[in-house]
Amino acid sequence: MNDLASHTIQLAKKFENGVYFTCEMCGSCCQGFKEGEVYLYQDDIKKLAKHLNVKGNSELREFAKKYLKVVSDSFFWKEPGATRAKTYRYKTLGFKFIGDDEHCQFLKDNECTVHEARPFQCRAFPIGWNMLINSVKNFIDYSKKCPALHNSLENKGKYYSKEEILKWASEEYEIEKTFFFTMKKNDFNIFKVYSFLPKDMVS
Ligand code: SF4
Ligand code: SF4
Repeated sequence: MNDLASHTIQLAKKFENGVYFTCEMCGSCCQGFKEGEVYLYQDDIKKLAKHLNVKGNSELREFAKKYLKVVSDSFFWKEPGATRAKTYRYKTLGFKFIGDDEHCQFLKDNECTVHEARPFQCRAFPIGWNMLINSVKNFIDYSKKCPALHNSLENKGKYYSKEEILKWASEEYEIEKTFFFTMKKNDFNIFKVYSFLPKDMVS
């Protein structure tokens, strides 16, 4: 998801004059996840646990069993002094979806029940998603599922300037980079990073 070649955020030419977007709260992006995951990073988990009053490792373990799953992640990085950058692959956490419609367990009647504590990925959609703002093709593909993106392509919705887009997209990059370094420091062992994780969560 995060194969950015450098710190520089790549913005597709089409979005250089800004992006229009107003969520229509249809809940469609919170279900049917065949094409992707909702990634959660350390601050997301802390915030959500606090919001749900989940405390201590044993409660966190139960929370993880119910709501989380281990998913694949990657980061494109050039070590100082290395001649080439390479893609590092490792594990991270994402939401576990349930039901035939694969819905997020915090979605009720098409509304997010943890709105104030929802993960960065949910808050940042779409202008903080590098894979959308750097690819018109991805943006159009996602618009088939999201009516607000569809409207955006017709310049309908709240206006976000190039500066706002770059701010959100840089934040996404920094979150992913920070997690990459955390994993690297911990030998890419997710159990060292999240000590509460039940061992059987990684197959
Ligand atoms: S946390 Fe809320 S916004 Fe994010 S996927 Fe779940 S229901 Fe949707
Ligand atoms: S699919 Fe688009 S319009 Fe519907 S809730 Fe998600 S972001 Fe909003």
